[in-house]
Amino acid sequence: MNRRATISIPLVAVVMALASSPGCDSPADIHRFSFATMGTVAVGTVEVWDKTHKRTPEEIVAAVFDSIDVHLSSWRDDSELALLNAAPADTTINVSRWLADCLQAADSLNRASYGAFDVTAEPLMRLWGFYSGQGHLPTAAELDSTLALLGHYSFDASMRTVTKHLAGTQFDLGAIAKGYAVDRAVADLVDFGISTALIDLGGNIFCLGVPDGRDAWRLGIRDPRNPSAVLATFDAVHKAMATSGAYERYVDIDGRRYGHIMNPATGSPAEGLLSVTVIGRRATMCDGLSTTLFVAGPDEALRLLRDVYRQYDAVLVLPPPAGASKARVLATSGLRGNLTLTDAATPATTLEFLDF
Ligand code: AMP
Ligand code: MG
Repeated sequence: MNRRATISIPLVAVVMALASSPGCDSPADIHRFSFATMGTVAVGTVEVWDKTHKRTPEEIVAAVFDSIDVHLSSWRDDSELALLNAAPADTTINVSRWLADCLQAADSLNRASYGAFDVTAEPLMRLWGFYSGQGHLPTAAELDSTLALLGHYSFDASMRTVTKHLAGTQFDLGAIAKGYAVDRAVADLVDFGISTALIDLGGNIFCLGVPDGRDAWRLGIRDPRNPSAVLATFDAVHKAMATSGAYERYVDIDGRRYGHIMNPATGSPAEGLLSVTVIGRRATMCDGLSTTLFVAGPDEALRLLRDVYRQYDAVLVLPPPAGASKARVLATSGLRGNLTLTDAATPATTLEFLDF
C-alpha cells in the first residue's frame, strides 16, 4: 500500500525566507525552484548558478530528497525503513549510511532527553490513527500494549547494523529525516561549488552563506495560533532552522484535536508548548531537537537548552498562562537584538529573552 496519498501537504513554506530576494536579481544569477517531495514541499533559492553545469540546482536537490525518501520514508512499502520495520525479531540488518546517520542522531537525542525523543514512536502514531488518517482515541490497555513495543532494538553505529528485539518495534524517522535530507542536499550543492543558497524542506531550512547585497537571510517563524501568519522574524547567516508544532499535522477525535508528536512517557500526544523552533549549524539536529523539546515540555526544554544544547538557539511558544490572554514567546539569549515579533503578533504575544 502506498500511503503517500494520505499525507497532508503543509501550508506551503510560508517558508518564510522573507527576504529571499537578494540584491542581485539577474535571472542568470539566481535559480529558484519548488517541488513536492517527501510528503511536503521543497523550496530552493540558489545564487550564482554556473549554467555550464550539466545539472541544475533543482536536479541536485531533488536527487538527494528522492533518494532519502526511498531509504527513510514511512510512506512507502519499498523504503529501506519499511524493510527494517518488516524484519522479524533478533535478525541483524545492515543499514545504509543515511539510515545509520539518522539512528545515531536519534540515539543521542533519546539519551539526552530521557526518552522524550523516540525514533520507535511509530506504533503510537499508528494507534492514534496518523497513518490511516482516521483518528482513534486509545483505551488504557491499548496504550499499555503499544508502549511495550517502543525502544526494543540495538544499533551498532560502527558496524551500521540494527537488531530489533521485538518484531513489533517499528521506526519512524519523521522527526529527523527532513532535516537530514536538507543537510545532505546542502553538502551536494557545496560540492558543486555553490556558496549561497536557501533550501527549505517543509520548514526545515538551511541558509547557506549570505545573499548577495544583503547582510543575512531573513527568516520567519510561523504563528502556531494562526499558521498562515508570521509570529517573529530574525536574520540568519549560514544557519539551519526547524520548527515543531502540533498544528502541522493532527487528527480530530470527538471534537478534540490531537497533534502528531507523541510523548513516550504517556503514549499520548505531547502537550504544553504551541511550537518550538531550533536554530543551529546542522538541519538534522535542529529537526531532531525541535521535536525533542516539544515533547519534553517547557521546563525540561529549558533545562536541555541550558545544560546540554547550549550551542543551539531556540524559540519556545507557550500558551497564555492561566488568567492571561497573551501567548508567551521565550527565546535564548543568542537571539537578543535579532528576533522581533511581527506587528500582527505583538498585541497577543509577550517576548522574553532567557539569560542563557
Ligand atoms: P517534527 O515535525 O520534526 O517535530 O516530527 C514529528 C514526527 O516525528 C511525527 O509526525 C512522527 O513521525 C515522529 N514522532 C512523533 N513522536 C515522536 C517522538 N516522541 N520522538 C521522535 N519522533 C516522533
Ligand atoms: Mg523534527
